[in-house]
Amino acid sequence: MWKYFLPTKIFAGIEIITKNAELLREVGTNAFLVTGKSSAKKCGALDEVLTVLRGLDIPYFVFDKVEENPSFATIEKGGRKLSANGCDFVIAIGGGSPLDAAKAISVIGRNSEYNCRDLYTGQHLPAFPIITIPTTSGTGSEVTPYSILTDGEGTKKGFDMPSTFPYISFLDPRYTVTMPTDVTVATALDALSHSVEGEVVNKGKNPLVRTLSREATGIIKDLLGKVLMNEDNVPLRGQLQYAATIAGIVIAHTGTTAVHAAGYPLSSFKGVKHGMANALMLVKIFRRIAEADPERIASAIAPFEDLDELNAFLKKFGVERVALRISDEEIEKWSKQTAKASHLKKTPGNFDEQFFAELYREIKSD
Ligand code: NAP
Ligand code: FE
Repeated sequence: MWKYFLPTKIFAGIEIITKNAELLREVGTNAFLVTGKSSAKKCGALDEVLTVLRGLDIPYFVFDKVEENPSFATIEKGGRKLSANGCDFVIAIGGGSPLDAAKAISVIGRNSEYNCRDLYTGQHLPAFPIITIPTTSGTGSEVTPYSILTDGEGTKKGFDMPSTFPYISFLDPRYTVTMPTDVTVATALDALSHSVEGEVVNKGKNPLVRTLSREATGIIKDLLGKVLMNEDNVPLRGQLQYAATIAGIVIAHTGTTAVHAAGYPLSSFKGVKHGMANALMLVKIFRRIAEADPERIASAIAPFEDLDELNAFLKKFGVERVALRISDEEIEKWSKQTAKASHLKKTPGNFDEQFFAELYREIKSD
């Protein structure tokens, strides 16, 4: 038995928002825009969206305060602004950070008696409709209900509710051209990680998920190097954007594995980009899974021939050059935390605190 479910409407192409401006009328009457500090302006998306909103006479408020690894404090601030301005839909422009933040802001803004901790109790709260406009090609957040936030202690935690599935996603590859090279690489490796981790969980059971995973992995394998040699090439950027979005559809069905859980402290406490943190963990954790179930790994990483080929690919994009100073106390704290992550339920093989302590020791530089 398998089930495919994606409530998000996807519209993709050049100038896709301007060409579908009328769609915004069916979503709401007063827009709350959520962006990072500068990239939404730099890539041209914010200007185009504002022009469309003005043309439709839809009032708006721009909240451009979202930082990388968005914090509870920023979400609660955004939620208060949304309520105070009487907005009734959210437009998120940016990488995973603004997109994830927008989902949480939409819930908190709609339910102003709640705070961020209430997002993790398992209850389903209503949210205002969310439109996502990705400017990175990686997280897939444009088509998932997931929102990964950072609490007051610096711990990254994910939540999702049926109401946080985006209502519409507009994909315009032109917005991804301005990504700095390191962001292009890290986000593409995040998408690759979603694609192969998702298929580890799926284990071929959902044929649509398997097809999307193979397509996404194949595109990233074939095209990431070409994109880096032609960073202004919009059709190539479009292929990478498509791969990231379909890898997002994969994890919307499967979730992610210990790879993501083990990478979180590296982003929270060492500033490693999310995709790079996953890439550092990926092969080491997949080798462990392969000890328990080699066929599952062979099938999940296709069209990579084997883990050595995947490892060589990651190395080519600088994964082994990441140098990190990690203290013994940090290793102890992180390995305890990672060994308790819910992702482990989806990760076959023998994973305990000792394994993760060894893993963090292997990647530290001194
Ligand atoms: P990001 O944190 O959103 O952005 C990284 C950097 O890239 C920021 O400095 C941003 O600038 C800049 N940037 C983004 N787009 C740009 C563009 N087109 N041109 C120039 N600069 C650009 O990066 P991300 O990797 O996409 O998102 C990572 C977050 O997503 C993490 O918090 C991670 O945990 C989460 N995540 C979520 C899911 C999910 O399913 N929801 C899955 C995986 C990861 P600005 O700050 O100015 O915008
Ligand atoms: Fe991710």
